[in-house]
Order: sequence, then structure tokens, then C-alpha cells
Amino acid sequence: MTSVPENSPFAALGLSAALVGAAVERGYGEPTPIQAAAIPLALQGRDVIGCARTGSGKTAAFALPLLHRLDTRRPAWRRTYALVLVPTRELAMQVGETIQALSRRMAHPVKVAVLHGGVSINPQMLGLRGGAEVVVATPGRLLDLVDRHAVKLDDVNLLVLDEADRLLDEGFADELSRLTALLPARRQGLFFSATFAPAVQALADALLRDPVRVDAPAAPDAGPAAIEQHAVEVDPAQRTPLLRHLIEQGRWSRVLVFVATRYASDHVADKLRRTGIAAAAFHGDLSQGARNRVLADLRSGALRVMVATDMAARGLHIPDLGVVVNYDLPRSPVDYTHRIGRTGRAGATGLAVSFVSAATEAHFRLIEKRQRQRVTRERIAGFEPREASPPAPAPSNGGIKGRRKSKKDKLREAAAGGG
Ligand code: AMP
Repeated sequence: MTSVPENSPFAALGLSAALVGAAVERGYGEPTPIQAAAIPLALQGRDVIGCARTGSGKTAAFALPLLHRLDTRRPAWRRTYALVLVPTRELAMQVGETIQALSRRMAHPVKVAVLHGGVSINPQMLGLRGGAEVVVATPGRLLDLVDRHAVKLDDVNLLVLDEADRLLDEGFADELSRLTALLPARRQGLFFSATFAPAVQALADALLRDPVRVDAPAAPDAGPAAIEQHAVEVDPAQRTPLLRHLIEQGRWSRVLVFVATRYASDHVADKLRRTGIAAAAFHGDLSQGARNRVLADLRSGALRVMVATDMAARGLHIPDLGVVVNYDLPRSPVDYTHRIGRTGRAGATGLAVSFVSAATEAHFRLIEKRQRQRVTRERIAGFEPREASPPAPAPSNGGIKGRRKSKKDKLREAAAGGG
């Protein structure tokens, strides 16, 4: 085993040598603000509500203390000690991989079971046969497996909710209350999300014991300013040609485009493909195998554009994703935060472009208001809207966090190219 840098700042957080080594091995130099704030509290056994922007290292903020427990206090052999709930299948796979990778240097191997729908249940049942110390799951499939007696949750000491506000909203309410009823009353809870609406906060409090709320300040390099936001006025019918134009003129190499429906996802991807741009749809009607392939292709660079529904808005980490486009605006300001948070991750810069029309102008203003940020309306030569928009709020360039001029310039270049 290679030597562990004892002076790593991760050692100062109180983590075991195996985990400090794993963090260093993964190239983590300094703990991110959410890690620095949450890990010591989690190690003390406190319940934590962690609020930090997307891409800020939240996974390791709960994975490291979780593994530390297993490393230092070996629980009963192969009983499920930690349960991590996530809202989507892709996030389950991603979180499972991170936990497994961070456990690599531990003296006793940790078994991590990743359980989600969309794939056959039988291999998951087989995989659970010998037990698993860590279960990472979407709620519906986990309940199926509980009902089939494939997994028991009565030894769970640690409950993690990743993208907690999503798991605590109505869509998951029944499943979540069934699951929490199966857990021991005495347990630790770590809930993480980029957003916590007040109603959600009350629900979270009810599931936790005297929780400490940690609002991690943005690191100088990883704050929201790392995402540069643009709003382009365009008639709805012109959005696909404009998108194609921006992709080509800006030489965008990896783009995530959000649309409102599965139909639009197929349709826009199809249109881009017909003009020679490697694009694919990503939505809930696709098989899990197809979803995995699309994501893998986007990550590898085989695919240039992924056109997705909000299913892709939460938690997904796509390295070097430079641009997010809101082809259709999201329904809520919270969804906007999560969508644009797919870019500008781990200290990288990102560009978020929203298409706004006369019909959606009022809705975008609401998003701006909640974000407490004005975004100047722009027009691209050749794609100016014919419909008149209601007068936009006075442009305030100071409001746009335009620290990184190069990205902005790219958009301008795109505009110039359209003349
Ligand atoms: P997450 O917010 O958990 O999705 O993490 C976003 C990205 O940040 C992932 O690629 C992590 O590997 C990376 N990351 C997490 N913690 C650190 C750290 N302390 N230093 C550098 N990168 C990190």
C-alpha cells in the first residue's frame, strides 16, 4: 500500500488513514466547504442537514463519514448498516460507485448494493444474498426487495438522503414513510441537497434528531458565479435552428439540453442528428440499458448533445459538461437551480443558456426573482423574435456574474456568426 499523507487536510477532519488515502488517491486536495463543515459533525454522530450547491462534493461529504464508521467500528457481518436513498437510478449508480471507490483501501472490504428500478430484479436479489453493509437505492425498488425479504433494514444505523428535498416531496411521500417505519428509531441521519424549501425543512426535522444545519459557503472557485447565465429571446419555432447555430458557432463539445416532455426530447434530438450533430434523447420511456448507453456516450465524448427531461436535472455528474441549455424553461426556480448545476461542477466553469419567448418571459422573471439574479436578455442575429416580448427588466450587467469573459465572448461570437 502506498503511504498516506498524514498531513492531508482530510486527516485533520478525523477520518481513518484508509479513507484519507482514498481521498488523496482520487485527487481530492482540500476538503470542499460542505465536506469541511459536515464531516466532523457526522463523525461526532450528529444529524446533519447539508445545504450546498450542486457539484460541491456532497457525495464524499456523506460517503467518507459513512465508511469511517465501517472502518473503525466493524458492524455485524454483512448486516445493512447504512442506507443511502436517492431519487433516480443514475444517481444510485453514481453514488454506489463513489462509495465503493472510496472504500478501496479499507482493511475489510465493504459490500455496496446498488438497487434501482428499470432493470431485472433477480440479479439484485442474488447480489443481496450474502448481505451488504451499504445499500444505495431508489425507494420503489428497495420496497420491492423488502417485500420479497431480500433485504432487511432493522440494523440500519445511518440513513442518508441525497437530493433530500426531492425525496421529501409529495412524489416519494408514501414510499419514504413506509421505508422510515422499517428503520430503527435510534439512527443517525444525514440529509443533503442544493435546495431546501421551508415545507421540506419541516419534514426533514421530523425525521431527524436535533439536526445541525450546515449551509456551506461557496468556495472561491466553486461558487454559483462559476456558472454564467444567459437568456436568449427567440420565437418557439426557431429554437432548434438557434440551438444548432449556438452549438456549432460556440464549438460546444458537450451539451445538456433540457426540454419539457419526452416527445420533445426525441424530437429535438432527432432534428439535431439530421443536421449531423451527434445527439441523443434521455428520458423515462427509454430502457435502462439505453439510458446507460446515452450517459456513457456523453461522458466519453461519443455524444455531443443529450436532450433530456428533468429526469437528468438531479445529481448527475458529467465531467467537462460545459453548457446547459433550457430549451424549455423548467417549471420551478428550484428545478432551474438543479438543471444549471449540471455544469460548472467541482470548480470548473459552466455556461447556462435559457431560451425565453414572449409567452415565457413572465415565468423567467419569476425564476430570476427567486434566484435573486437578473439575466440580461440577448438576441442572436438572424434569430430575433418576431413576437414582441413585454419590456424586460432593465438589463443590469452587474447582476450577471460575468467573471469569466471567455464564455461570454463565445456566445457573442456565436451571435456574430449568425448575421
Ligand atoms: P458531487 O457534488 O459529490 O457530485 O461531486 C462533484 C465532483 O467533485 C466529483 O467529480 C467529485 O469527485 C469531486 N470532488 C469531491 N470532493 C472533492 C475534493 N475535496 N476536491 C476535489 N474534487 C472533489
